Amino acid sequence: MTALHDLIAGFAAIGATDDGGVCRLAATALDKRARDLFLREIGNRSLVPRIDAIGNMFGVAILDPAFDDVVITGSHLDSQPTGGRYDGAYGVLAGLLAVEAVRERCLANPGAARRNLAVANWTNEEGARFQPSLTGSSVFAGSLSLQDAYACADGDGVTLGAALAAIGYCGVTPLEYRPVRYVELHVEQGDRLEQVSGDIAAVSGAWMTRKISVVFEGDYSHTGPTPMPMRRDALRAAARAIEALYVEVAREDVGAHASAARINAYPNSPNVVAGRVRVWFEIRHEDEAAVVAISDRFLKRIEREAREIGVGISIAADDRRSAPLLDPDGVELILTVASDVGCKALTFKTITGHDALAIQKRIPASLIFVPSRGGLSHNPREFTAPEALDKGYAVLVETLWRMVTAA
Ligand SMILES: [Zn+2]
Repeated sequence: MTALHDLIAGFAAIGATDDGGVCRLAATALDKRARDLFLREIGNRSLVPRIDAIGNMFGVAILDPAFDDVVITGSHLDSQPTGGRYDGAYGVLAGLLAVEAVRERCLANPGAARRNLAVANWTNEEGARFQPSLTGSSVFAGSLSLQDAYACADGDGVTLGAALAAIGYCGVTPLEYRPVRYVELHVEQGDRLEQVSGDIAAVSGAWMTRKISVVFEGDYSHTGPTPMPMRRDALRAAARAIEALYVEVAREDVGAHASAARINAYPNSPNVVAGRVRVWFEIRHEDEAAVVAISDRFLKRIEREAREIGVGISIAADDRRSAPLLDPDGVELILTVASDVGCKALTFKTITGHDALAIQKRIPASLIFVPSRGGLSHNPREFTAPEALDKGYAVLVETLWRMVTAA
């Protein structure tokens, strides 16, 4: 599928980093370049372009103007700062070609289609520049208001609303068709498929994630003369907390995943004891009860350990993302399709968040994984073999065909 590989290479050039990766943060000038190119690709295929107020982009194949319903496929074109070339872009670009392929098949089979079909690029899936992640798909699903989404600010205080306006992507042409099903093709970003030499995963649901951001409040003082017992060092309290998270996860020993991957220290001067530090923690597991147990015990522990050194804590954000199930009919369909096209398929839950999980709140949604070499993602060395990309594409096309033609 040379066309797919060429498209992926073309988009990877926008925001390409020296180490072979991609840095294309949401609503930046580079995101605009990728969006503009995607819009051209939509036009090249005579799909109908639509851009909604939060910047979600659609290319619609109107299989029959009499249809109200539309099946949507897609993913996202934004990336992490240390992103690879497949995360998100694969699902958008394979989706673009799949919509075109299904339309051609419909033209060869008049009367077969019963729904329209569209490809989507969702705004700010990654949540690297603006939090929360899954912004565009959550607005589309109705679980996040447009005003709240616009008000999300990046590290420099620029809001998503202002950033989208600056690149010309606060759209005024929402999708006018009634969405009925969603299918997303994505690289796994883990190694479970690779472990069993599987081609395809029909994802059945997601792990629960609890994202807690904690502020450690101590006091500012000179790093030189301040006597050690007098220091109320917020960075020290944060360091203890980060280690405590690993200890608590190991103590529970149920295979939970956790991280502390972002930290802001104030005033962040080598000569001032940090008086205020914010750390972003995450705890994930398939079982919600395990996540709650680990995180509650963790919070109690860090509160006590911070207090011991004169530092207070407060919770700046506590985002509990429950473990949603994806459409069971979709899982069954994808497994059947995979078997029909000769792919080895299995089913498991995703550990990572995806637009499909947000969209499942509005309509039945499905998620298809292909293997990631070494399970590596959010990394310039992220890689999926061309043959594996092609298998995912073949499953996507056949799945979409059956969805638009089903009774
Ligand atoms: Zn992604």
